Amino acid sequence: MVGAGAREHALCLALAADPAVTHVICAPGNAGTGMVAEQRALDPSVPDRVAALAAETGADLVVVGPEVPLVAGAADAVRAAGIACFGPTAAAARIEGSKAFAKEVMAAAGVPTAGATPVLREPAAVAIALAAATPPYVVKRDGLAAGKGVLVTADRAAAERFAAGHPVIVEEYLAGPEVSLFCLTDGVAVVPMLPVQDFKRIGDGDTGPNTGGMGAYAPLDWAPPDLVDDVLARIVRPTLAELAARGTPFAGLLYAGLVLTADGPKVIEFNARFGDPETQVVLALLETPLAGLLHAAATGVLGGRPAPAWRDGAAVTVVVAAAGYPGTPRTGDPILGADLPGVLHAGTRRRDDGAVVSAGGRVLSVTATGTTLAAARDAAYDLVGRVHLPGGQHRTDIALRAVGGAVRI
Ligand code: AMP
Repeated sequence: MVGAGAREHALCLALAADPAVTHVICAPGNAGTGMVAEQRALDPSVPDRVAALAAETGADLVVVGPEVPLVAGAADAVRAAGIACFGPTAAAARIEGSKAFAKEVMAAAGVPTAGATPVLREPAAVAIALAAATPPYVVKRDGLAAGKGVLVTADRAAAERFAAGHPVIVEEYLAGPEVSLFCLTDGVAVVPMLPVQDFKRIGDGDTGPNTGGMGAYAPLDWAPPDLVDDVLARIVRPTLAELAARGTPFAGLLYAGLVLTADGPKVIEFNARFGDPETQVVLALLETPLAGLLHAAATGVLGGRPAPAWRDGAAVTVVVAAAGYPGTPRTGDPILGADLPGVLHAGTRRRDDGAVVSAGGRVLSVTATGTTLAAARDAAYDLVGRVHLPGGQHRTDIALRAVGGAVRI
């Protein structure tokens, strides 16, 4: 398992729980993955080092969590070493690495998405595009930005300032609830996971700046019953077919970030890997052993498998972030309750004296299940109340509108 966040902690737990798995190694990991997997040092952004560690440890399957190693070519390097790898090639991961490339693929495949300008580099061109747009303005930096490369604002001057010095696209604003759909694929067969809703803004009521994600829940009782079939037919399959036709088939996890507009689902982004924090709730509800699914996707035999089974009930995760996040986070604070079941670690590290301390912006992803969404939400917030991070911040409204029946398309 390559990575170091709460997504990787959740993936390590799910892989370790698969009866077919004898040993899980996580690199570079965090204090939480250290409780479930052997830890190894690694700079995941260097593909040859990922491949060398996989070879040295005799890994049967490498699962790449984050986007940076994928876009750099980690999966290519691992596969070139003759080892199965769950994660797309660098060429296919461009669907996440370049928003302009993603738009080009979607246009060629006829996939519904927000209208956008091509990449703009000149401030004057950005100003013209914004003047022609209808507020709220959506400005996206063209490249990986850890979820923070997007500004949605009614303030045109703020939009111009955000764009300054970066290649950007100016995008049409899409109104409606957001849904994330993960699809496992071997390039041909597609296995959808449960749709999830996540919460990108730092503050309650979707206020303040965007973050990597502050919480998530599933299932979405308010979503149309044909949502997954519709997204597969109109978005996921045409995108995969277009990538394959270009000679860069996508195998791994294609994450469709969607807005359910009055005109149907439209794409706001593709990611080339499991989302964080959505993975924490998807895996909390997945009954089918994970490693077998990922290995089948990595080795081109996903098509023969039965559809995955899901547990009844719901799951909610609430991210506890450090003071200062999403700006510069304060680190080094001791965390109480970090070893409680359901507390997934993101930015944590174990100090020499054994204490778990904060080491990043998003510190914990506190996850619980319940027979209903309301029960899962209560359990997640009970657990948040039992952990303590000095100066820590979390949203208090994760899944609140869904529990109240207030999410409308
Ligand atoms: P992204 O990194 O593209 O997912 O964007 C981060 C967040 O910005 C999304 O989760 C949305 O909340 C918001 N966003 C991005 N694109 C749009 C859009 N075209 N219309 C409305 N909101 C958007």
